[in-house]
Amino acid sequence: MLFHEVLIIGGGLAGLRAAIEVAEMGRDVAVVSKIHPMRSHSGEAQGGINASLANVEKGKEDSKEKHWYDTVKGSDFLADQDASEILTAQAPEVIFEMEHWGCPFSRTPEGKIAQRPFGGAGLPRTCYAADKTGLYLLQTVWEQNIKHNVKVYEEWVVLGLATEDGKCCGVVSMDFLSGELIAIGANAVIFATGGIGRIYANTTNAITNTGLAISIPYWVGVPLKDMEFIQFHPTSLARTHILMTEGCRGEGGYLRNKDGERFMSRYVSEKVMELGPRDIVARSIQTEINEGRGFPDGTVHLDLTHLGAKKILERLPGIRDICMNFIGIDPIYEPIPITPGMHYIMGGIETDKDGQTPMEGFLAAGECACISTHGANRLGGNSLLETVVFGERAGKKAGEYVKDKDKKTKTKALEDALKREQDTIEKFRKGGGEENPYKIKDELAKLMVKRFGLFRQEKDMKTGLEEIRKLKERFKKIRPVFGGKVFNLDLLSFYEIKANLDAAEAEAVSAIARKETRGSHYRTDFNKRDDENWLKHTLATYTPEGPKLSYKPVTITKFQPEVRKY
Ligand SMILES: Cc1cc2nc3c(=O)[nH]c(=O)nc-3n(C[C@H](O)[C@H](O)[C@H](O)COP(=O)(O)OP(=O)(O)OC[C@H]3O[C@@H](n4cnc5c(N)ncnc54)[C@H](O)[C@@H]3O)c2cc1C
Repeated sequence: MLFHEVLIIGGGLAGLRAAIEVAEMGRDVAVVSKIHPMRSHSGEAQGGINASLANVEKGKEDSKEKHWYDTVKGSDFLADQDASEILTAQAPEVIFEMEHWGCPFSRTPEGKIAQRPFGGAGLPRTCYAADKTGLYLLQTVWEQNIKHNVKVYEEWVVLGLATEDGKCCGVVSMDFLSGELIAIGANAVIFATGGIGRIYANTTNAITNTGLAISIPYWVGVPLKDMEFIQFHPTSLARTHILMTEGCRGEGGYLRNKDGERFMSRYVSEKVMELGPRDIVARSIQTEINEGRGFPDGTVHLDLTHLGAKKILERLPGIRDICMNFIGIDPIYEPIPITPGMHYIMGGIETDKDGQTPMEGFLAAGECACISTHGANRLGGNSLLETVVFGERAGKKAGEYVKDKDKKTKTKALEDALKREQDTIEKFRKGGGEENPYKIKDELAKLMVKRFGLFRQEKDMKTGLEEIRKLKERFKKIRPVFGGKVFNLDLLSFYEIKANLDAAEAEAVSAIARKETRGSHYRTDFNKRDDENWLKHTLATYTPEGPKLSYKPVTITKFQPEVRKY
């Protein structure tokens, strides 16, 4: 049996940043990742990372406090203000650290780190490296992991947690190449498993981002927080849903309906226009489409043609490549057809400011975690920031926690967990009937778009929940899993589909219960924010009969909730 003092699951930005911290504390640390770390979804991030450097325009003074306030306002006052204060206060430091580690940020003519405007921020605050910011940041932390000799179990997939006396003591994972199940003991486990976008059909997320990222701890009693808050990005490319970064609008791109009109003036002030926060811009686009002002293929246009070739080639080269390769248009000359697409989960594994979950020895960081810095709506550029700020904090917390612990594997608990996963796989091998699991996956992804999309109402969501539960029943009758050992993607998919169903159910039950409109959770039947009854976080705890809900207060330290206007 393998053992490490700290075991990190996930080789994206959050996981790799946490690993550096633990290694620097001199503790034994390893990373488990189901894909090569450099292929993690973090590497797909385009637009940038926020910090109040104020490097661009003279006279536009930025400050940590302004960034903090924008984040809290953007969250529709559901963010825990102590958490978002940490996020925004540490931002400049984190950017300089990344720069000193070699991240090649784009530059101003004076040689300072360049910043572009993003939605929901009054100032250009988003540091970027062309439109491939995530890739460069990930490469930067990956190099540091190599420098610190961090052990990586690459193409190993974690299937379950091992616990003893309510504490986490390791994981069960599968070496994808051999198909062998292997238990790894640890005194602390950090989940940095990313988002779950693939529970929706119209997502911008990579195919690796499935419900498994959050369902593994959920199944053993760790609650999921604020699952009803799902971010829909305003601009995903027609048909494919590949992201068209907010940087397109940050660089001055327009949104136009079929009449050529810049329709955002109908929804926000003339000063803000395309740079409203994501929830509002996405709903505005969908409203145009729903009211017949979109194009016949159900899109509106993201128009960059007035920016000129030079700017597009320098600042948005990746966007141009994607448009040419996937739909055959060149945005230098033609507008880009877009629709909103599912992009990010504000909710996730319940943690405190240090990434500690309610389960001792188990921490989480990055998109899978709900530290609650983003509340009901995340600002663009704040998620990359969250992965590094809170990745570091979770690493530090775990490193301190394991300091005086025996370096000993809890053999019995690990064997029990191993046996549990062997039994699950055995059940999958036998099968329960003839249902095609991939049909269940597709039906779920479609119904999530239809029932739990940008506009929600009770009747629809209740139907959606019934549909999810029917799919769960059908999942019990799936065909036997493919029996091969080497790279058995079929087996991984069985786990992921099971996890998708449970994550979707947690979202559905949380969303039906919240009878108000806040941030991304827009209800046509309760279309006002209701601070008196709903200024609180939802917690969903797993039970075999379905999620059990409870609530937790929001931490308000400085900014009293006010009407959110842009
Ligand atoms: C297209 C796109 C563009 C974006 N652009 C921006 C942007 O410009 N600015 C911004 O702030 N945010 C952006 N975001 C959001 C941001 O990139 C993500 O929220 C963030 O990078 C997530 O990082 P992470 O480390 O939490 O997870 P990820 O980078 O997704 O990494 C997850 C890791 O977990 C591993 N893993 C998962 N499950 C298992 C398992 N069971 N066993 C083993 N390993 C597992 C995977 O192998 C992977 O290494 C964007 C997101 C997308 C999808």
